Amino acid sequence: MVDANVIIQLAYLAAAVLFITGLRMLSSPKSAPRGNLVAAVGMFVAVVATLVDQDVVDYKWIALGAVIGSAAGAVAALRIAMTAMPQMVALLNGLGGAASALVAGADLVSNVVDKGITPSGIVPTAIVLSVLIGGITLTGSLIAFAKLQEVMTTAPITYPGQQVVNALIGLGVIALCVMVAMDPTQLGAFCLLAAVALLLGVLLVIPIGGADMPVVISLLNSYSGLAACATGFVLDNSALVVSGALVGASGIILTKIMCDAMNRSLTNVLFGAFGAAPEAGAVAEGPQGTAKSYTPEDAAVIFSNARTAVIVPGYGMAVAQAQHAVRELADTLEEKGIEVNFAIHPVAGRMPGHMNVLLAEADVPYDKLLEMDEVNPTFPETDVVLVIGANDVVNPSARTEKGSPIYGMPILDVDRAEHVFVIKRSMNTGFAGIQNPLFFNDNTMMIFGDAKKVTIALGEAVRKY
Ligand code: NDP
Repeated sequence: MVDANVIIQLAYLAAAVLFITGLRMLSSPKSAPRGNLVAAVGMFVAVVATLVDQDVVDYKWIALGAVIGSAAGAVAALRIAMTAMPQMVALLNGLGGAASALVAGADLVSNVVDKGITPSGIVPTAIVLSVLIGGITLTGSLIAFAKLQEVMTTAPITYPGQQVVNALIGLGVIALCVMVAMDPTQLGAFCLLAAVALLLGVLLVIPIGGADMPVVISLLNSYSGLAACATGFVLDNSALVVSGALVGASGIILTKIMCDAMNRSLTNVLFGAFGAAPEAGAVAEGPQGTAKSYTPEDAAVIFSNARTAVIVPGYGMAVAQAQHAVRELADTLEEKGIEVNFAIHPVAGRMPGHMNVLLAEADVPYDKLLEMDEVNPTFPETDVVLVIGANDVVNPSARTEKGSPIYGMPILDVDRAEHVFVIKRSMNTGFAGIQNPLFFNDNTMMIFGDAKKVTIALGEAVRKY
């Protein structure tokens, strides 16, 4: 008869293989939905294996937790708007960190207080890391959530001596970590460590401005994985170690990609208080001239003489749920003999891959989605660019204005095309809170209105012309 533990370990191994295969499949939009399913099957296998583990003594609380958690997750997933996904991801990261910290803390307390056992070997270090990283992830994610939901200011919150204060708290945390790792029976020091970790999460995220939130979210995602990985060592659960390590590593890779996309170093994001909204009134400064307002019918005339067009989707397209209308417009333009491509900025919208997901949903062929490096050299030869609800990702002050909060961030160089149409509802700023000189250029024409309505009207006008 095969030992039950062997079967459990084999199930964990199968789960790890499914996680890695699923993750690999997530790297292409075509295979991503199947990859998601494969990883979900892996998680199911891991959960079942854990439930049959002999360490489980009572299923009552597990069943209750599973029912409440699944119901809350299902309702949230069904109700959440795609544009609110970063907030949802921030909350999930935070809860993941909290779960890891609580499990590690419960393990310590039950061993030391209930069973009179002092954890030894790697376990005390793993407990300390779970609580430290998990605590920082929880409160850091809650602040990120509050900033993204705009229930608190998105501007960096800074005060004199902030970095010194953070550094001193950091040193205190290191001292507490060493103390608890060396003598895990010091429950007072352990509780203090948990409290300081929670405080540190808040202090580390408040000075980070709105424009850097994509980087912060992926970094916190990575932290939640690292906390889970450490908890895996506490529980001696290999599935948790592997899945935590995968989340930790992929989160760090995504963080690096986001930093590169914004041309920023991670240290700069964490300690640079980047993304500050300018002082009131500053947005109107500069020789910007007057923005010109056009109608969809005016735009159709210009399109009728075009051979090439590039559509640049942004957050506004997502808010208006205009992706299907945009696909139909692209089809209409192609029927008129115009070559149409889509330019995708890596931080367009409010989550990594946001535009790719929406356009894939509307069946836009993948080979029409051009990445920033590929499309930028083509703009000088492009007849018409149609910017739909994008703002920061096409703001040329990132190239030219040293004082701008987005200076240095690579952008889509749409201003270099012959004609630029911008669909948005007003002259309001985008996420970074700064005005966009593109809107005042001679070759830029604004079409004011909701992205979906205007796109449909433009499609009709082009068809009639
Ligand atoms: P922006 O947020 O810069 O601009 C979006 C524009 O869409 C606004 O100026 C708004 O103007 C317009 N808009 C809003 N609703 C509508 C509507 N219904 N119809 C038409 N237009 C509308 O978006 P971008 O995509 O250019 O840039 C993304 C920004 O978000 C970057 O600063 C990025 O750093 C940040 N970010 C990105 C994340 C990511 O992972 N991708 C995560 C978090 C933040 P108006 O009100 O006048 O209509």
